[in-house]
Amino acid sequence: MKKNFLSIKNSLPKHVNLLAVSKGFHSSNIIDLHNLGQHDFGESKVQEALQKKRELETINQISWHFIGQIQSNKIRKIVENFRYIHSVDSYEKLLKIAKIAVEIKKIPILMIQVKLADDPSKGGIFFDELIRRWGDIKRIQGIKVNGLMTINPKGLSSNENLKLFKKCRTIADTLELTDCSMGMSNDWEEAVEAGSTWLRLGSLLFGKRYL
Ligand SMILES: *Cc1c(COP(=O)(O)O)cnc(C)c1O
Repeated sequence: MKKNFLSIKNSLPKHVNLLAVSKGFHSSNIIDLHNLGQHDFGESKVQEALQKKRELETINQISWHFIGQIQSNKIRKIVENFRYIHSVDSYEKLLKIAKIAVEIKKIPILMIQVKLADDPSKGGIFFDELIRRWGDIKRIQGIKVNGLMTINPKGLSSNENLKLFKKCRTIADTLELTDCSMGMSNDWEEAVEAGSTWLRLGSLLFGKRYL
């Protein structure tokens, strides 16, 4: 596993960041990667993440990223505890995040999750709505929208994955956004080829999930 981490990390172009998705893994797994120089960790459940944050309190320099589905009643906890939020999947949630961010004087770094394929199991804003709302989104104070995030449906061919990722990159470029959070354990190579700036890798780095 550690061998995987270093060989992947060392193979990535400079503009590609690696987010180690630690959901389902223990704090000790996070420490292992942290000792190898990994600072960015992604979690998708608030409770699970908070427990690990407590366990890892003494370790400096961890940046926590929220990548899970955002429940409205958890937004305050998410804004309080995560520097990055990759999975903002509606305009209303953007507004709510901004309101709380201003209240607690934090500026979260956000990616807007876009839905590029019709996959009922995944959230996200459709392209048309994103474009329609873009003027309003840009006017929201107190947040930093740095990019887009996408999750491809399962079971696509390598070519189909590549095509969807390129679409995400093109939209981000059109909106003058730097980041594309895309690419997981099964499709990260296509994501790198298409211009990902944040790979979200879990099982490929850590092995099989415990939790
Ligand atoms: C779990 C998860 C990942 C990592 O998945 P792996 O297949 O283990 O790499 C990436 N992104 C999101 C949004 C996830 O929920």
